[in-house]
Amino acid sequence: MAIVYPYGENIYINQTNVCTNACVFCIRRGNSGLDGYNLWLAEEPSAEDILQALRKNEIQGEAVFCGFGEPMVRLDRLLTVARGLKERGWWVRINTNGHADLIHGYETVPRLEGLVDAINVSLNAQDGKTYQRLCNPLFADRAYPVLLDFARKVREYVPEVILSVVNYPGVDVQACREIADKMGTEFRLR
Ligand code: SF4
Repeated sequence: MAIVYPYGENIYINQTNVCTNACVFCIRRGNSGLDGYNLWLAEEPSAEDILQALRKNEIQGEAVFCGFGEPMVRLDRLLTVARGLKERGWWVRINTNGHADLIHGYETVPRLEGLVDAINVSLNAQDGKTYQRLCNPLFADRAYPVLLDFARKVREYVPEVILSVVNYPGVDVQACREIADKMGTEFRLR
């Protein structure tokens, strides 16, 4: 069970397996983890558990909240860890599905200011109908507009914002790229 694991040149933080989507292309489907690391958690780590695991790691550079679940479900813990990382000079990124405002019931993006350097919001589709079909969101038709709103607003608080999609049947990559262009964010095809 890996709380933190190196992947490429970065360290990934796996703090929860809870997610408000059930994407058809999710790596969790039928996999126990990534690169030999088991990412199904027997129990969720505390902020101190994560910081301790990071201290043991030799790599220091970019830390990515990602994992086998939606990291912003555990926002308070994420921000505690991010604060600890920033104090030690890490670059901090979050990979999120953009549902945080629905999960928590308030505007979450201002809380990221000064603690998060980059955020990758999974756009996943060119419209709400396709998003619902591919991502099966718990929040049904409220999820897609909220993720767009989240991505738009987060630009005020996080220096680098990326909208990403996976190349999957039904995804209009060009239309997704245009959404990112109009919004003024970077775009990434994963
Ligand atoms: S949002 Fe991410 S973790 Fe959640 S189901 Fe989709 S791909 Fe998996």
